[in-house]
Amino acid sequence: GWFSTPSLRRVFDVFNVDGGEVRVVGGAVRNSLMGLPAGDIDMATTWRPDEVAERAKAAGIKVVPTGIDHGTVTLVIDGTPYEVTTLRRDVATDGRRAEVAFGTDWKADAERRDFTINALYANDRGDVFDDVGGLADIETRTLRFIGDASERVAEDYLRILRFFRFFAHYGRGRPDADGLRACARARSKLATLSAERVWAETKKLLSADDPGRALLWMRQAGVLTEILPETEKWGIDAIPELVAAERAFGWKPDPLLRLSAIVPPDEERLEAMAERLRVSKAEAAYFSRWAKAPAVPATIVDTAFDRLLYRHGVEGIVVRLRLALSTARRKSEGDPAFLSETASLRRLLARAEAFKRPSFPLNGGDVLKAGVPAGPRVGEILGELENLWIERNFNLDRANLVARLEA
Ligand code: ATP
Ligand code: MG
Repeated sequence: GWFSTPSLRRVFDVFNVDGGEVRVVGGAVRNSLMGLPAGDIDMATTWRPDEVAERAKAAGIKVVPTGIDHGTVTLVIDGTPYEVTTLRRDVATDGRRAEVAFGTDWKADAERRDFTINALYANDRGDVFDDVGGLADIETRTLRFIGDASERVAEDYLRILRFFRFFAHYGRGRPDADGLRACARARSKLATLSAERVWAETKKLLSADDPGRALLWMRQAGVLTEILPETEKWGIDAIPELVAAERAFGWKPDPLLRLSAIVPPDEERLEAMAERLRVSKAEAAYFSRWAKAPAVPATIVDTAFDRLLYRHGVEGIVVRLRLALSTARRKSEGDPAFLSETASLRRLLARAEAFKRPSFPLNGGDVLKAGVPAGPRVGEILGELENLWIERNFNLDRANLVARLEA
């Protein structure tokens, strides 16, 4: 697996010299112990950040000074990034970002991390170092803060969301009671975090195989309302049926679709949500297209459906159909009367996904050539002919339209 790749060996070879050391830490160690694929590879080292950069450069490795003040240097080898961070110990915190000092103490570095399962280190021989009981918690899939849960939450309130995120991905049974209580008590402090951090963490949570349980616990702890008040009345019951539909129909888990399932399809509210969370332009467009898209009756005929797709765009309608289809699929499990609705929606979804938007064969130049003087009338005439063309199911060709223009 990833542990024996030549590029990782190079990192070990460059830094395990002259009394210094580097180890893999965090998600990569955690996931490999759980038999899951590793995401990005984070590393910890006794070398200072400037020494990391210098030694890497001397070895001909590409260096990106990601966050040199925070002690992180990214090395890129054969296209794979390795985030190498100098061992740190906490000095002070304002609850938003921890202030740290560099050191050479592996245990102190482990103790400033958030959860026991995230504080395991592996050396180049695959030996695992565990100062905080992370191995036992991996066995039982327990998400546990290192040290006093309330204190750790107060150091960085993002850890509230990380608690539910890691629980969603790796937890089993009930969440750890101390952790849950600490998160619930500090929930009002989530408002002090930067929107970008909250949104990034929320998306990761919503990307879990099944975020349903974690969302229930978040609601129970009063945390969900703090970050997504939109879900308050709407409820999160749509998540299980959506997850079931993803599995039944082979859809890739999509955090935006999952969020769409639990917020009201109201343009204004979604705009406000997108602004508050500072989502990207593309993400804001996703919500807006969906909110603007009309509900599609399962009984719609193909020609009318194609006109709808042309007018509103495929993306928003696909989101609507997927949500409607998950609900219909769930209902059809208890009531076969919904089977035909499910089948119709599936067919419409396939049709939408295969839809090639026809392009209107006339442009402003044609209207001018027909003798209409330049001005607002040109666009109006073009619009009228486009409407006619749509109403005739895109079946009027260019010659026909030009003839109508000249008539
Ligand atoms: P992923 O699979 O999402 O990358 P990860 O555990 O590697 O999971 P990262 O956000 O990449 O998570 O962080 C790497 C490691 O840094 C974590 O495993 C944890 O030890 C530590 N860490 C990250 N963020 C925090 C935080 N807010 N507070 C304390 N420790 C943190
Ligand atoms: Mg990581």
